[in-house]
Amino acid sequence: MISSSWKKPNTGKCGLLNMGNTCYMNSVFQILLHHDLLINYFISDEKINKQINQDKKESNVVTEFHRLVKGYWSFDKYQQIKPLSLITVIWHMNQMYHPFKQNDAQEFLTFFLDTLHTGIEHSVIIKLNTKSKKSDIINQAVEQWRLFFEEKYSEMVQLYFFQMKTIIICPNNHQSITFNPSSILSIDIVGNTLVKCLDHHFTKEELPLDYKCNNKTCQSSKCTKQEIIQYLANEYLFIQLKRFKYHTTETVKICDNISYPKILDLNKYVDSSVDKNYRIYELNGLILHNGNAERGHYYAYQCHNDEWLKFDDESVIKLSSDQIFDNQDVYLLVYKRC
Ligand SMILES: [Zn+2]
Repeated sequence: MISSSWKKPNTGKCGLLNMGNTCYMNSVFQILLHHDLLINYFISDEKINKQINQDKKESNVVTEFHRLVKGYWSFDKYQQIKPLSLITVIWHMNQMYHPFKQNDAQEFLTFFLDTLHTGIEHSVIIKLNTKSKKSDIINQAVEQWRLFFEEKYSEMVQLYFFQMKTIIICPNNHQSITFNPSSILSIDIVGNTLVKCLDHHFTKEELPLDYKCNNKTCQSSKCTKQEIIQYLANEYLFIQLKRFKYHTTETVKICDNISYPKILDLNKYVDSSVDKNYRIYELNGLILHNGNAERGHYYAYQCHNDEWLKFDDESVIKLSSDQIFDNQDVYLLVYKRC
């Protein structure tokens, strides 16, 4: 388990130099560099030395992130840091992340969380605590979570991963239920508030008519699909507003202004058979994208010891409270469990 022994000092206000087109990486790093429980783990030589999987190539990224964390939190006033060695090992792992290529912050975040996870994963015994009687579905959900993570668990799982359940039902009531772990909730932009987009994401949708029921004797069309969160205990929840729509010839950015709350109650999107204690989250950070689909710039807003800061590559400035809400550049929202 991750302990909360590390207390965040009033440092942690460093800028990160842009190494080409690395603003999307810098934004992701700045957000993660302010997640107390993640830092509590990655700042410790003892924990990293004990759990790093030296035989895996992901360990290079763990080592360099560990160095960045230690350096970042050691400066007691503003400094500019060049994250070149971390970016270099990331690029060596995946050619897509060449410093001079533009990339999507959400794709990079997914890759980076997975890489850190793989670099420190180890086997554990997994049991979920639920107050309800264990119905078949809950047993299936626990079993799927166990199959996925028992042999490869890491501290990243309890910080960032939740379990989604997808239910497909045909007109004859045949159900197909699948469970998948995820670290980012990606939602379409429907309506002008985050809550409306979430409501839409979790409503039943009709599948295309060429989708046929799995049941061999049935094979009905007109199936519906619904998603619900089966298990949500993660400390941080990333929500992506799907601003980029990919068409055959071009990518278009949806620039709608979406408003988002300070406090987000996720209870109605979580399976009601699971206990409801920990589903209230508070806004903790934002990754923003300014520009269009071809050319744009990423920056981050992060809550730090009760003040909000704007991290824009090497620049760090304080924000007033009215600047945090209602920004039409918002692309990824980070909520922290209350
Ligand atoms: Zn059927």
